[in-house]
Amino acid sequence: MKIAFIGAGYVGLVSAVGYALAGNDSVCIEIDERKIAQINGGKAPIYEGGLDDALLKLTRDGKLLATSDYNGIASAQAIFICVGTPSAQDGSIDLRYIEDSCAKIASILPKMKGYPIVVVKSTVIPGTTSGLVKGILEKGSKLRAGRDFGLAMMPEFLREGTALADFKHPDRIVIGTMDEKTRKVLMGLHSKFPGEKLIVSPSAAEMIKYASNSFLATKISFVNQLALLCEKTGIDVDDVARGMGLDNRIAMPFLRAGPGFGGSCFPKDVRALMHFSGKEGVEPTILESVMLVNSLQPLWLIGAAQEKMPLKGKTICILGLAFKPDTDDVRESPAIPVISQLLKMGCKVLAYDPKGMANFKKLFPKLDYANSMDDALKGADACMIITDWKEFKKPIAHYERLMKNPLILDSRRILDPKTAITASYISLGRGIA
Ligand code: NAD
Repeated sequence: MKIAFIGAGYVGLVSAVGYALAGNDSVCIEIDERKIAQINGGKAPIYEGGLDDALLKLTRDGKLLATSDYNGIASAQAIFICVGTPSAQDGSIDLRYIEDSCAKIASILPKMKGYPIVVVKSTVIPGTTSGLVKGILEKGSKLRAGRDFGLAMMPEFLREGTALADFKHPDRIVIGTMDEKTRKVLMGLHSKFPGEKLIVSPSAAEMIKYASNSFLATKISFVNQLALLCEKTGIDVDDVARGMGLDNRIAMPFLRAGPGFGGSCFPKDVRALMHFSGKEGVEPTILESVMLVNSLQPLWLIGAAQEKMPLKGKTICILGLAFKPDTDDVRESPAIPVISQLLKMGCKVLAYDPKGMANFKKLFPKLDYANSMDDALKGADACMIITDWKEFKKPIAHYERLMKNPLILDSRRILDPKTAITASYISLGRGIA
């Protein structure tokens, strides 16, 4: 099957690669010429394990190409919309990229043969596919959904860092459509993928995505607040999380306390669901608390350091800028509020991340960046671990040797307290070692 992907970001590119590896032909339609050149050169514009190797092979074999020309979709049988759906100022969803891409798809739809299928993969609030998307496609093409072309909503559940593996091995595949022909085509396309196939309405599919992300965000804020209580009472939050997670009604994933959730999805999706809920007259009280806990959580690092020494004028080493390891994505990373606050307090900040520095420089161009973890530690008065990259997991004695004053604040609990010689090592949810 020939499939077009509108938007070659994390979701669009990983999907294009994933479906091509499954034997289909992929074409990416992208507005960013820099990304197009990189993709056609066999190099992914994002860092994601295994993606470069797969992309190089697929582009060489002519199974995947990228272009800015929407005519590239004319010979496709399915079009997956994978453009961004960021937060607007008021927390509601900003649908401008969806509107723009749908208008362009509508202009090509009449040229397409057979029964082309348009699938919304971007995360959109319930009612968007059957309302706005269908409306723009029908108006622009003068065709009818369900008669001349198919329409579906299929939310994406991949996680950055393990995106390609998640794509190949989904827990479930949600197909939101009211149209039998579309259902059959999409069931056929996914017949070799593992995971239960769930057929629901487009609005239910849209809600499943928001409900899933909001629930996971709730789990994180729950364990993060619990970590603060554990720390005060001398209990190890990881023992508690393990004791909870072994109950299969609760389950282990997303019970690791840390400096708060970030990334391109959880914060914006929780905000969008809150906004949607409020508009529908349902007060989103749980989600308001989830976001409040999340906004305070990164500041644990600063509070814990301040208990040890005044921070004004001190040199602080920040380890980790990406919102999680194995990605270069820094969107809504907890490093952002921590560094902003430290700069406001008059600290000198020296930051390091194995993959996220180029993206972080776009947000903080004047910040000092180190070339390595060791360079960042040299001469620091305190070190704050924000992202749990494997390369940061070293004996505390290694940190001590390089720092001027070995005060280490570990919001991920990746260091072993037993490896400290003289350092003050404070880990979130465990207290002072
Ligand atoms: P992204 O910002 O990485 O990529 C979006 C791409 O779309 C960009 O490259 C942009 O240039 C391109 N684009 C914008 N308008 C376009 C247009 N009119 N035509 C062609 N290309 C256009 O976004 P992403 O992280 O891939 O997310 C895409 C959607 O998937 C969002 O709704 C997001 O919430 C959802 N989602 C993301 C993830 C994730 O882990 N990133 C996971 C699941 C779902």
